[in-house]
Amino acid sequence: MVELRNVSYTYPNGQKALDHVNLKLNDGEFAFVVGNSGAGKSTLIKLLLKELTATEGEVYVNGYNLNKIKKRKIPHLRRTIGVVFQDFRLIPNLTVYDNIAFALRVIDAPQKYIRTRVPYVISLVGLTSKAKSYPSDLSGGEQQRVALARALVNDPKLIIADEPTGNVDPARSYEIVDLLKAINECGTTVLMVTHQHELIRYFGGRIININTGSVVFDEVIGGADEIQ
Ligand code: ADP
Repeated sequence: MVELRNVSYTYPNGQKALDHVNLKLNDGEFAFVVGNSGAGKSTLIKLLLKELTATEGEVYVNGYNLNKIKKRKIPHLRRTIGVVFQDFRLIPNLTVYDNIAFALRVIDAPQKYIRTRVPYVISLVGLTSKAKSYPSDLSGGEQQRVALARALVNDPKLIIADEPTGNVDPARSYEIVDLLKAINECGTTVLMVTHQHELIRYFGGRIININTGSVVFDEVIGGADEIQ
């Protein structure tokens, strides 16, 4: 669950990035966030990850009140969130398997669990045959699927995808969103930031439009995939 109550954020230099935002995303929801460059989307994501703290208002994520969360609890919060970035952020000298396993090794997950969980998430994203490949041997779309598997491996409640299709061949972008939708159907909440209006027109769903720090539109629209 994600909730922002009357949230504003002003950077230390005085630049206001979010201005009295109210937003609620229930468990199991899928929403697209759209908005021009500079609208406040990255700031919103940083608030949800507790990389920044709201200068006004309250932020709740997965049962944590981020205004009150203790420093030592922040890693716990972040383990409930899987993040996918536009630039994949894979480790180049690790195989697909090890890139994903790494996310479990750093939290000291049991070896036995790693050995079953990692192949499972690799199969979910359709990359079983590439488990031993290195990121440089994969297409952009495949690399993003690895990043998605890595985000999923901890079984997060929420996936935040920050322009996940930005570096993916446009034709393959639909597959990334299809995967996020499939993940969402298994119960994970998904918040996806995108600039690609054709994706929104195709998939429809809840669209949150941020403009100069304010939510200017927050509604569910029908998608072209429903008409076909
Ligand atoms: P978006 O992700 O939608 O492009 P941002 O959240 O990055 O928007 O930025 C929102 C506003 O905050 C913009 O006016 C931007 O210039 C400003 N901003 C972003 N980061 C900083 C920063 N570190 N210091 C000062 N202003 C910033």
